[in-house]
Amino acid sequence: MTSPTASDINTIDSILDRALNSEDISTADALLLLTQTAPDLIDRIRATADRLRQIQVGDTVTYVINRNINFTNICEQHCSFCAFRRDEGTEGAFWLNTEEILAKAAAAVALSATEICMQGGLHPGAKIDGRSLDYYVELVTAIKTTFPQLHLHAFSPQEVEFIARQDGLSYADVIIALQQAGVGSMPGTAAEVLDDNIRRIICPEKIDSATWIEIVTTAHRLGMPTTSTLLAGHIETPSQQIAHLDSLKQIQIQAIAAEYPTRITEFIILPFVGQSAPAPLRSRVGRDQPVLADNLLLTAVARIFLGNYIPNHQPSWVKLGLEGAKTALTWGCNDLGGTLMEEHITTMAGAKGGTSQTVAELQAAIREIDSRPVYVGVSQPLGTVSASAETLGKRNYHQRSTLYELI
Ligand code: SF4
Repeated sequence: MTSPTASDINTIDSILDRALNSEDISTADALLLLTQTAPDLIDRIRATADRLRQIQVGDTVTYVINRNINFTNICEQHCSFCAFRRDEGTEGAFWLNTEEILAKAAAAVALSATEICMQGGLHPGAKIDGRSLDYYVELVTAIKTTFPQLHLHAFSPQEVEFIARQDGLSYADVIIALQQAGVGSMPGTAAEVLDDNIRRIICPEKIDSATWIEIVTTAHRLGMPTTSTLLAGHIETPSQQIAHLDSLKQIQIQAIAAEYPTRITEFIILPFVGQSAPAPLRSRVGRDQPVLADNLLLTAVARIFLGNYIPNHQPSWVKLGLEGAKTALTWGCNDLGGTLMEEHITTMAGAKGGTSQTVAELQAAIREIDSRPVYVGVSQPLGTVSASAETLGKRNYHQRSTLYELI
């Protein structure tokens, strides 16, 4: 690592200054930030992201009481990072019936959950009278009839495409039917990296980037909010990461310009966990657990690049551990995610973050956040704490709904 020159520092400061003035930064600017290695420049980037988080969404760290339900791991596809999927009839394959799903929902309600997050493998046998959509609608109807108060955050763009393909329907047909049955929002998973060269290697059977964007945009047009994700830290390059962020930004710009009723509500980085991933990808990536430092810098750049368009940024405690996720709350994140109560997909990949957090554990983590001095602009040297900045760093917590209303 070489020390930054005065010119390097000026260039970075000028980008950060523009961001602090609420201006958009370009993809080239974002890439420059993401490729910095000097600790003092990285700390300027961190502090700017933290300050922008404060300006854009305030000091309250939110969390949601939710339960994750993966209703089956039987899947027609073979993504190269996936340790979750099974073929039907093989060891470890599962497919929950409605009673089992309702029992999990009831247990979640008993713990004051407001949300069920539901996703599963792409199971060609999951049909009623030969129709895939009817199976999914019945699943949703069973939960919403029994627990109408629960928000259902369910079925990724890949699952929407699967249902549409199985039944010969349009994406809009599927989204409308799920919405009418009671799905309240769509997880922005299956995005992985929105770059078809990467997708051809890590998830060749999945929808391509354009289809993911088309389904998410269709959801926004139809009044279904979505989240957004990035599977980071495997074979993708920094410029592919920035291009992914730019795709998400363009989706928001389109939703705003077209006055769609809903948009992307949050952005989540999902650091790649390779411990139990199939051998070829595992050896190509060359490590099993995420690199926290890389993840934190990407977290900060995502806040700086996307914060004007996507206000809520969430780390993944499942993948980073609660300690890592807590640290990410000082690098631009404002939300600690959900209690989950159970998690299979990442845990089967070898993640060490656990599968459940209690509300008390999430709240304790937020209370322990190291609120370092807030960097208020390039005109002040790093570490300078103005009278107001000392109090600006303090964080509190609040439970939220899926759509970020405080509860
Ligand atoms: S990531 Fe999803 S679509 Fe890909 S193999 Fe695993 S369960 Fe199937």
